[in-house]
Amino acid sequence: MNWKNAAGLKKHLPKLSDFDKFCIRNLESKIEVCEEQREGWPGKMPFYIFWCPNCENYSYDYPQGFAENRRLYCHRCDERVDFVLLRTEMKMLLSALWCGISIRFGRKK
Ligand SMILES: [Zn+2]
Repeated sequence: MNWKNAAGLKKHLPKLSDFDKFCIRNLESKIEVCEEQREGWPGKMPFYIFWCPNCENYSYDYPQGFAENRRLYCHRCDERVDFVLLRTEMKMLLSALWCGISIRFGRKK
């Protein structure tokens, strides 16, 4: 158990809406709730609340590892959870769609 992260979860979980919690539990969404700078860190890191499928609880951590291989660790059971932002994927999908639409309709003008 990581007590710093447990305290962070306790502090930030009540701020989330029911919709946020729904996304976290059902869509494997990770929601950024704050930035923290801890001892020995060169700067602030974003902290996320996410769902741990192993102990079936909300968890709180910052992304660790390199860009294409980022992960979060559950502060209760140390389960490794891949860090993939749904938001980023949706944004990419939407921008690809938008691009396709503007190519298709833009030429007719
Ligand atoms: Zn866990």
